[in-house]
Amino acid sequence: MPIFGSSVSLPILVRIEGNLLDRVNELLRESNLLFTKPLIVTMKEIRSMADEVSAGFKEPHIHEITDNSYPQVEEIEEVIDEVRPDVLLGVGGGRVIDVAKFAGSRRILPVVSIPTSLSNDGISSPVAVIRFRKGTRSVGVNMPTAVLVDLGAITSAPLKNLKAGVGDLVSNISATNDWLIAYRKTHEHYDTVAALLARKSAFEMLDARRINLTDTSFLKILAEGLMLSGIAMGIAGTSRPCSGSEHLLSHAYDELYPDKVTLHGEQVAMFAVFTSYLQDEPSASAQAEFLKRNELIATPKDIGLGFEDFKRIVKHAPSTRPGRYTILEEVDEVDSEKAFRKAYG
Ligand SMILES: [Zn+2]
Repeated sequence: MPIFGSSVSLPILVRIEGNLLDRVNELLRESNLLFTKPLIVTMKEIRSMADEVSAGFKEPHIHEITDNSYPQVEEIEEVIDEVRPDVLLGVGGGRVIDVAKFAGSRRILPVVSIPTSLSNDGISSPVAVIRFRKGTRSVGVNMPTAVLVDLGAITSAPLKNLKAGVGDLVSNISATNDWLIAYRKTHEHYDTVAALLARKSAFEMLDARRINLTDTSFLKILAEGLMLSGIAMGIAGTSRPCSGSEHLLSHAYDELYPDKVTLHGEQVAMFAVFTSYLQDEPSASAQAEFLKRNELIATPKDIGLGFEDFKRIVKHAPSTRPGRYTILEEVDEVDSEKAFRKAYG
């Protein structure tokens, strides 16, 4: 009898705990992930955390990068060729994890994601955001082999970064709506399990009355939500569950106003209020209130944008990712203006 199912690449090990930086090797070994020669990718500001991780290994090598640009990926590849590590450990924020994931995929090495901040859903996703000379692009990579989140380390991350992580998570509501719209209109593949994971995590965050970024039990919800978002992308085989029109608007803003750019997660959450109104999403006003109540970027005015700038962004957005069908394809200027007024007053 045939058995129907699908196989998905998932991390072998996921741990979200109080303090685990000095136990990384121990935790990996418990799951039969036996490594002796890790290359630890990190940044100067968090070097002490990388040192803590390295202490548990026999022959560790630490390399600091400065950003998520393509030359930094090439630099890591050179170090890999020289040091010949058996695993890559990314100890740091989103940019470190992205460079580790990309270099690890290109050199066919397992990657362990050890985030020290939670600014976006890249901690356990098959996507890396890399800055190329022509602009920033999301590239497909292998899913991390393990994801180890040290909540103690996360509490010392800048609040602004954690707020951005909250924003990226809430934007899944708008993203999954667009995915369903695309499925209905263009018959694009839609995966209900992936959409559910992304959506449930977002609503759990939205339902938290007030976010408390110094409380480890709250940070655990955030870490779990971002991790499940990454896994949703793995199941879907695309970034669809976590990236719709609100992400296109954010990419357009990045391209048109490069000097005004702030954190990705803050931007997408602000744009998601507008796209949620366009989609007739029932939680649109709750999203707007959530951003205001928790002092996230809530309106275009907060980043110095007027209505004319906003119109320019809406017009430019679809071209930032041709082929990604969203609500923006179905609305005109009158609809946009109405949604803008509702979203931002
Ligand atoms: Zn995002």
